[in-house]
Amino acid sequence: MNLITICNRFPTQHDCILHLESVRWGDTPRCPHCDSEDVARKAENQRVGRWNCHSCKSSFNVLSGTIMQKTKIDLQKWFLAIGLIVNAKKSLSSYQLSRDLDMRQGAAWYMQTRIRQAMDENQATWLSGIIEADETYVGPKPRKNNRKGGPKNPTGRGTRKTPVIGAVERKGRAFAKVATDLSGRGIRCFLESVVDVEHSHLMTDEFRSYRSMDDLMQHDVVDHSRQYVDGSVHTNSAEGFWSLLKRAWYGSHHHYSKDFMPLFVAEACWKYNHRKDARAFDSFLAGVFA
Ligand SMILES: [Zn+2]
Repeated sequence: MNLITICNRFPTQHDCILHLESVRWGDTPRCPHCDSEDVARKAENQRVGRWNCHSCKSSFNVLSGTIMQKTKIDLQKWFLAIGLIVNAKKSLSSYQLSRDLDMRQGAAWYMQTRIRQAMDENQATWLSGIIEADETYVGPKPRKNNRKGGPKNPTGRGTRKTPVIGAVERKGRAFAKVATDLSGRGIRCFLESVVDVEHSHLMTDEFRSYRSMDDLMQHDVVDHSRQYVDGSVHTNSAEGFWSLLKRAWYGSHHHYSKDFMPLFVAEACWKYNHRKDARAFDSFLAGVFA
């Protein structure tokens, strides 16, 4: 949904609340504390959208327990931030977001972080089919080492960049995260947690750690020192996902620290998995509220 449509559909705070209430509860509002349906809208006052629960005597609103809980930022700005973030081909910096929405950079950063956390919580898992697994290294470019004998701009395995491990369904979804362990054991642990190994076929490059999967699932290896494609054995989907991730990172995040990487990777995955979703804005809200 583009920004004009968002503004037209949700011109006021009240419209945003009604929409979120319908996404979260449909026709049956429920107490988020005790799940009771014995609830009633509080008498209208300044605070629109407040509800009372007659069962547990608490009060709540549609934002309770979500990324927008207790926010002081207008919901329309949240909606616009979501629209901007899910529509952006690369990744927006919080500075860009703050200019687009005419707000302080700190507030824009706060919203962006919460939105990314929601994307992280709604990651695709249980991938199946042909799975291409691969790792890559993203992050600040290493300083030039001018000392004699020092490494020359090292890249890839063994650098100080952040390792990211990913599994990508061929023509499907992706799951990636910052890797803490690229040993055979670490990779096996990662793949077993996100891939339906019994019904999938693994494709990787010749990196030895992937051999740890051999007794668990079908596994084909393409030797990148000799060729990149061997019939149907290749990791082109994973390469495509990495190039998207890197374009997003180097396009707007060159001044960011490694601490941002996990949520940044989650955003890249979410966007990759919704690349053909014409209703990505609605899908995002459904992930948070439905
Ligand atoms: Zn209750």
